[in-house]
Amino acid sequence: MGQEKKSTRVILLGTKGGPRVGEAGRSNPSTLVVINDVPYLIDCGYGVSKRLITANVALDRLRYLFITHHHSDHNLEFGPLIYNTWITGLPAHIDAYGPTGLAKMAADFFNYLKFDIDTRIVDEGRTDPRKLVTVHEFNNAGVVMVNDDVKVSACLVRHPPIKQAFAYRFDAKDRSVVISGDTAYAPELAEFAKGADVLVHEVMYLPGIEALLQRLPNAKRLREHLMAAHTLPEDVGKIATQAGVKTLVLSHFVPGDDASITDQQWAEGARKTFKGQVIVGKDLMEI
Ligand SMILES: [Zn+2]
Ligand SMILES: [Zn+2]
Repeated sequence: MGQEKKSTRVILLGTKGGPRVGEAGRSNPSTLVVINDVPYLIDCGYGVSKRLITANVALDRLRYLFITHHHSDHNLEFGPLIYNTWITGLPAHIDAYGPTGLAKMAADFFNYLKFDIDTRIVDEGRTDPRKLVTVHEFNNAGVVMVNDDVKVSACLVRHPPIKQAFAYRFDAKDRSVVISGDTAYAPELAEFAKGADVLVHEVMYLPGIEALLQRLPNAKRLREHLMAAHTLPEDVGKIATQAGVKTLVLSHFVPGDDASITDQQWAEGARKTFKGQVIVGKDLMEI
């Protein structure tokens, strides 16, 4: 490809794990893969509409949307994003893919805003946003969608107590990109990510959560959940090594709003177990 701009780009829109909304710093989770100028959005954490605009992706360009699992840091702005694309311009049709529950979530969201939507259709002559989106639900691993530019597949990962938590793999002509979603250490994810150019993997820093837990009344329970459902840096590196990827990108940082944790601290565990390129993700970073 030489000097040419890559036709497949990865842009991190929000890199903070968890649903807490902060004043500044990392935004809630969302990742964008752009293939031949078509955006494919993975997850809709709070703030995703604004983040897309900041990344120079006009909302009416949104065409494909993927949800990894039904934790709110990944789907809170699913309905509002579709609404925003509708109210902002004249979007094309949107295909939304994700685990069971996504269709009901879309229907419930349109009900939540029924008064506004029905008013605007009559008063402003708008089209019906309920016809804008087609939801494709699935329960199992496999190929999710294929078009001329890309094949998208899903793999079940380990994120208890949620059973339907998926990673996605985008195989485009020039690059393969895997997004882990939320998961504990999952060797099957390494198999799924075999030979990918880029693996975007979630990460949890144990000393950081210990500091956070000291302040919480539900600390014991929360610690158990975090340990069973997320991946420590050394294990993230192991997955990248087993998969043989070129580049490992850390994202979905837990804790995501502790500015005292340095990039070096986030990366050093992964660098012990993976000798390829390790990138500590930042919001709006392009890979
Ligand atoms: Zn999450
Ligand atoms: Zn989650």
